[in-house]
This record gives sequence, C-alpha cells and structure tokens, in this order.
Amino acid sequence: MIHSNDLQSLPARDAQAVVHGLTNLSVHAQRGASVIESGHGVWVRDIQGREYIEAMSGLWCIALGYGNERLADVAHRQMKQLAYYPLTNHKSHPPVIALAEKLLSIAPAPMSRIWFASTGSEANDCAARLSWYYWNAMGQPQRRQFISHRLAYHGNTIASASLSGVSYAHDRFNLPLPGFMHVTTPHFTRHAQPGESEEAFSDRLVADIERLILAQGPQTIAAFFVEPVMGAGGIVVPPARYYERLQALLKQHDILLVCDEVVTAFGRTGEMFGSTTMKLQPDLLVCAKALSSAYIPISALMIGPKVYQAIERQSGELGLFGLTMTYSGHPVASAVALETLKIYEEERIVDHVRDLAPAFLGGLQALSSHPQVKEVRGIGLLAGVELATGQGRECARFAEEEGLIVRAIGDTIAFCPPLVISASEVDELHRRFARALDRL
Ligand code: PMP
Repeated sequence: MIHSNDLQSLPARDAQAVVHGLTNLSVHAQRGASVIESGHGVWVRDIQGREYIEAMSGLWCIALGYGNERLADVAHRQMKQLAYYPLTNHKSHPPVIALAEKLLSIAPAPMSRIWFASTGSEANDCAARLSWYYWNAMGQPQRRQFISHRLAYHGNTIASASLSGVSYAHDRFNLPLPGFMHVTTPHFTRHAQPGESEEAFSDRLVADIERLILAQGPQTIAAFFVEPVMGAGGIVVPPARYYERLQALLKQHDILLVCDEVVTAFGRTGEMFGSTTMKLQPDLLVCAKALSSAYIPISALMIGPKVYQAIERQSGELGLFGLTMTYSGHPVASAVALETLKIYEEERIVDHVRDLAPAFLGGLQALSSHPQVKEVRGIGLLAGVELATGQGRECARFAEEEGLIVRAIGDTIAFCPPLVISASEVDELHRRFARALDRL
C-alpha cells in the first residue's frame, strides 16, 4: 500500500529509479513523471486525482479500455489452473491451441500456423529471422536484405529497430544494421510533386523501389515490411494504388510481404485487419497490442502456407526448429488474448468503429480551418492532426492540461482512442482538443 506521503514523492522517486523511453532523460530528471494510478473505460486518473481521456490507448494498445473485469478474471483463473507452460519439445496447452485456431480463422489472408512472442518488436524480429530461414530452405541464402519505409515503426530489438525508419531508433545505437534499406514514406501530401495525382505519385514511388531492387539484385532481397497504415510515423494512409502496385512488384521479384499490424489489427481501421482495409495479401503478418487489449504482453506472427511448408521441411532436415522463447504462447497471455477476441466479436467492435469513425474523423476534419492546423489524416479510429506551426509538444501539453492525453509525433498530434469510446466521449475529445489548439 502506498501512503499519501509517498504519493507526493512518487515523481521524485520515479526520477531516481526509472528509465523512460521516448523521453528526454535530462528534462525528466528536473520535470518528473506524471504518475497515472487508475483507469476506467477511456479514462485514466493521476495521483492528483485529475482525469484524462486516454486518446492514445496508452501506446496504441488498450483497445477495450481500462477496468475490463472479464480480462482480469480470465487471467486470474488461468494463473490458478496453469500459470505457465512452455511450447518446446512437443508440449502444448489448451489456451494456446484455441488462440492459434481463432487467429487462423480470422486471418485476412490464408495462414498456416501461428508463432507467438511477447511484443511487437520480437514478432517483427522473428518475421525477419523466419524470412532468412525460409530463403535458406529455398536454396537462396543470398536473399538477406530487407526493405521498409522511412518513418516506419517496426519496434526496437536490433532487427526491428533496423527495420524502423525513424532516426531516434538508430542514432548512437549503431543502427540500422547493414542490409536494412528504407524507401520514401508513401505520404501523398508531403511527398507528391506539384500537380502529381495520387496514381502518378504511387507509380513514381513504386518505380523508385523497383530501381532499388534491380540495383541491389532481386535475388538479394528477403522481404518488404509495411504497416498497412503507418502509426508512429505520424498516421500515414498510403493511396490505394500504392499497395496494388507495390504488391505486383514484390510478386514479380518473389519478395516476401510482411504486414506489421501491431497497430492496425483488430478493428482499428474499420475492418478486423488493416490488410483487409488496404487490400494487402501478406505472406507473414504480425500483431500484438490489441491482441490482448494490452492487458498482458503477447504478440503473434501469422505464417502463410508457402513459408510454413519450407520451415517445416527445413526443421525436419535440421532435427529441430531453433527459434524459441520462454514466454512464446504463455498460457495466461493466450487465455487473455482469446477472451479479448471473444469480446471484440460479442461487442461487434468492428461495427462500432465503423459507426463512430465518421464522427471521430469528421470532428477532427472540422478543425482543418483552424489557423494552427495544416492537415488532418486518418482512417477508422486512428487519426493525425498535423499542425502548421511546429508546436506539437506544446499542443500535447495544452491538451493534457485540458484533460486529454494525445501524442505529438513531430508536428502531428496522434489520436488512437480505445475502440470502446462512446459517441459522447468522442465529442468530449474534440472539445478538449479544440481548446488546446486555441491556446497555441
Ligand atoms: N510495430 C508497430 C507498427 C508499432 O507501432 C509498434 C509499437 N508501437 C511495434 C511494432 C513494436 O511493438 P512493441 O513495442 O510491443 O515491441
């Protein structure tokens, strides 16, 4: 139990004990932490008793909102029944079997098996490793390079940070590793040439990628990683034609397509998967975050038939499949994820997102005429408001003072509220954000 005296000193204690990601650590030592102690639905409360709308679902993840009793209960029951068991050496347990079956049944493209990990970073790392394993099995060991987008975010292990196209994941960390290449972000309004149509823009970007592939040699490229809609890069929805052309190019050169759906899976874009929204047919698909509504760490890598057959065959030749992680398919995490997917279905979460998206995006679009706003982008319950003035941080701070937690990504204010947000909470989010903009 924390006593009220301790509460006063929590920020100071934090500053002396905890390292924070995406935080200026020297500023943090002076400023201290905002300490959040509880949450319910889309709301969180700090230790001063102030309430906020958590319009970022934490880090794009707490899809069912805070305080979900069913998820807490299922974790409690599973911990008592079988708290842990590994999947190594032919062992398994009921929750992981049911979860894998469920994921296979809802996958947006034909998938053969599911590999589990704990975080999105790990699952992307495994996708990169499985791509290498696959190409070795196919007798093409020289296919080692990866392509992804500038400003993409694929995580922060050594491989997934190399896949990420953001400088903060690289600078002074000696990354990206060689063999990880980044191409132009498919952000039409930012990168289009004067007078260029969306179609011409898409064709130009894909032609550039083709030139890169040909220059490197197609036989050296293992896989192309995409986020169907880019999240942490500032909410970028590529033009429809872009993925159509890109997929044709990858097929032509036999390059694997990995869809990183860590943010977009499970309803966020108005379909169960962002791959469906953006008409993508991945060979490998990564999901995490909303898979358990963030109640417990778990991620999944869906493996398509072509890749799986080769993996199975090669592991037979080698005598075992050498990828293993202690918490792969953890029973408690699996049980919570399975219950999460049940709740999405019972609560018709995809329909709810579709119902609410016009008001959610419309209310932000309505702010386009605000002198501080340059562009409003988004899809489903995912949006970015790019400011005209380079005052992202100030805007996020003002929003917080108005009781609204958002994230500034450069000049873009990101919104990714829990999927269970109500129409009146969406209105309140808009009102609070409008007040923050007015204060700029
Ligand atoms: N991919 C995407 C698209 C992400 O947004 C994130 C995290 N924000 C990751 C991967 C990494 O996931 P994790 O932080 O769980 O490792």
